[in-house]
Amino acid sequence: MVKNISVQPKDIYKDPYGYTYSEMVSVLGENEAGKIYRELYSRSKNTDKYRTITIKEIFRGVDTQKYAFELSDGYCIETVSIRRKTGTTVCVSTMVGCPVGCIFCASGENGFVRNLTPSEIVQQVILVKGKVNRIVFMGMGEPLFNYDNVIKSIHILRDRKGINFPTDGITISTTGPLPQMKKLREEHLKIQLTLSLHATNQRTRDSIMPHMKGYDIDEVVQSVLSYSERHNRSVTIAYLLIPGINDRENDVKQLGKWFRDKNVLINLLQYNETDCKAVRRPNKQELVAFRDKLNKSGLTVKIRESRGGNIKAACGQLVSRLNRHNESVVPKKIHIAGLEKESSNNDGYSNRLKSNKRPYTKSKIRNGKKGESSK
Ligand code: SF4
Repeated sequence: MVKNISVQPKDIYKDPYGYTYSEMVSVLGENEAGKIYRELYSRSKNTDKYRTITIKEIFRGVDTQKYAFELSDGYCIETVSIRRKTGTTVCVSTMVGCPVGCIFCASGENGFVRNLTPSEIVQQVILVKGKVNRIVFMGMGEPLFNYDNVIKSIHILRDRKGINFPTDGITISTTGPLPQMKKLREEHLKIQLTLSLHATNQRTRDSIMPHMKGYDIDEVVQSVLSYSERHNRSVTIAYLLIPGINDRENDVKQLGKWFRDKNVLINLLQYNETDCKAVRRPNKQELVAFRDKLNKSGLTVKIRESRGGNIKAACGQLVSRLNRHNESVVPKKIHIAGLEKESSNNDGYSNRLKSNKRPYTKSKIRNGKKGESSK
């Protein structure tokens, strides 16, 4: 075994959830690594002595719970657990804030603060109660903009000596940054992939997801289809239906052109209320009418039931109120009715990941409106 000389024993003792078993063995030897792994992952032995995130609050809904976790630097993230008949799904965050700035998502309004470490991602799964049988990277942040840490966390979660989580129970939901999509295609991981598409032409997508400008919509679609072909598995297209914006005949036609006869499921989503006034939530009839049109053009479509709205835990609502005093690095108001106003901060890939230098206030405020995240 090759010893990883860049990792020192003190690094592992400080934050062991960030290492695979074999990394630990290469630095600490088998006996010590085995002992620590048992302490980390066996239900009876696991203690909080190695944890770097703590539960700050739990918001309880009927079948949904939202956890607010405090990180070691005082920032907060949120993680949602959804109880289903077959087990529990955990929706994890990958960043504090998010650089993409989707207009329908409260997380984007906070801007990007920092990436989560592999350990912080893994601990969200460990700390959630219930028998977790599905992990979705759909919380706060764009997972593929935190590529290395997300992939590392998956390797840790599927480590046989640890949780041994089945890889095909893991879904990454992404807006589709092209270089990372290409990299992901080449990984030997059998994860499920969801593309948050939300539009069928460049202009509309750029308006809805202002910081994904520069990624050609057709290439983004081709990259997810290429993933599907390479791994011989179905992919999901998430499509947030916005009446008057992306529910026209042309949208039906274009979706048919891209996805007919492909191994694709289209998930129609309803906007969950945030402070964005430019997006209207479709009613049931509008959703059903659009679904029927897509069905007629040969597509497989599901209307995705949104859960957790009552505790501001549904998609687009997970802005941690504990971080509320942070000011945004992305523009708050994009008017999609005209579709011509652009982000004042849309200056390419590197700037997408510039962190917000203004520190979040470790506020004790409890009564704000927004929560945080997701796709
Ligand atoms: S929907 Fe996802 S990618 Fe878009 S701003 Fe929210 S967290 Fe970021």
